[in-house]
Amino acid sequence: MNLNNRPARPQNNIKRNSKNEIVLNTNNKENIIKTEIKNKEEKNTEINSKNISNENINNSKMIMAVTKDTRLPLNVEDLLIQEDKLYKILDNIRIKVNFNFSAEEYLEFSHITSIQTFVIFFDEKYKENINNAQIYEFISAVLSDFIYLKNFVNEKSVDHLKNILFYTHQNLIMIIVLLLKQIGIEYQNNIWVLKLKDLVKLKRAESMNGDEHFIIELNNRLLFNSVINFIKIYFKNPNDYKIFSIFNEILNNLYRVTLDNVKNNLFNLKNMLIYSSENTSTSFVHINLPGPFLPPINKKYEYTLVLDLDETIIHCIDQQEITPLIRPGTKEFLSELSIYYEIVIFTASIKEYADTILNLIDENKKWISHRLYRPHTTVLKSTYLKDISKLGRDLSKTIIIDNACDNFQLQSDNGIFIKTWIDDKDDKTLYNLIPVLKEIVIKKIKDVRKALRKIRDTMIRLYVKGDNTPYSTVLQYITGEKKLKE
Ligand SMILES: [Mg+2]
Repeated sequence: MNLNNRPARPQNNIKRNSKNEIVLNTNNKENIIKTEIKNKEEKNTEINSKNISNENINNSKMIMAVTKDTRLPLNVEDLLIQEDKLYKILDNIRIKVNFNFSAEEYLEFSHITSIQTFVIFFDEKYKENINNAQIYEFISAVLSDFIYLKNFVNEKSVDHLKNILFYTHQNLIMIIVLLLKQIGIEYQNNIWVLKLKDLVKLKRAESMNGDEHFIIELNNRLLFNSVINFIKIYFKNPNDYKIFSIFNEILNNLYRVTLDNVKNNLFNLKNMLIYSSENTSTSFVHINLPGPFLPPINKKYEYTLVLDLDETIIHCIDQQEITPLIRPGTKEFLSELSIYYEIVIFTASIKEYADTILNLIDENKKWISHRLYRPHTTVLKSTYLKDISKLGRDLSKTIIIDNACDNFQLQSDNGIFIKTWIDDKDDKTLYNLIPVLKEIVIKKIKDVRKALRKIRDTMIRLYVKGDNTPYSTVLQYITGEKKLKE
């Protein structure tokens, strides 16, 4: 089965508003609950009829749980449905059927369930762990849905996700065990409570004997690393910047976000992913940092060369393991030009990813003076830009090279728009640029912006005239062998 082909989703229970965004109608709650009850009852009659007589069944789904100071209502049935839906995702991942459907069912249910959070049932010292477990659970369902939406379904991503789901489900079972301990004695024979007890018996793995709070804490730690790695691997592309930054922000602020915050943010994000709508109210967590980003320039340099990473000097073939292809001439380019220029790598990728690659390329750290990453970009209308005015450098002596001209649109005169490189072994672009860039420094060009404009215009004219070696012709202009027309 080709898991990458995302099948069309059944449309029957999805409502949309005038903008075609998904609307989760809370009026549906009653019907959904009724169906769930029916299904549940059919499923469980057999198990429970053996040991429960009709007389002592207390049919109330809302029971009272004993908390430290008072008694609070707990909707046991919703708890059962929640576990069932979460387990279905895990189960479908294991057998590799389209688990996005079960993820969407979980998410739809989580929208209407009266269980906002279980946190209120716990002592202050346990609240953070329970809150985090709930957030991870929700995130795991969202990720199960997103990897279909983004077409990232493959053996590795599914395995990774299976792990995440396994721990979140284990946490939910632990929470149920803890809640059962708090249920008042008069409800011990309630049919829903008995179902919960059966569930725990069935799904609490033997290896998990031990303090439930300790297991949840341990699982949360595993989940933090696992989820962080997941988003770093699968949402590292600049296009997925929004997704990455929202997850990253949530994970790094778990202690102060609530489950409701997370739900709102991620539901909006999902709408955005499906419809690429600009009207969603997704809170955008990127902060446009003010400059200057760089310390004063080293005295041996007067000129600065800002260089993009992806598809300018490298291309990463494998999203899961960072195995870059390096553009021909990259090392020569860096070693020769670092004599003339302060070289700054400016990438919209994340630090960990970029550093892994740059440490391979510049292993002795002698060519690249500074590295700037995603947080240094300036976000404008969902695009991140490289605003080189924030570097703290003289713009008349600064050049930026990027394969996406949008990235340097704020200072387009400073930019060299380089051909996107994927894997062409015969590419000569960097070799060709070396002498041109060298000459700019040797000739002590007063304002690189003027020089680059002339080079650009000349190159275009040469291309149009059919010159196949415009770089060497341009070089002749720079060295004065030919005169540039003003
Ligand atoms: Mg690039």
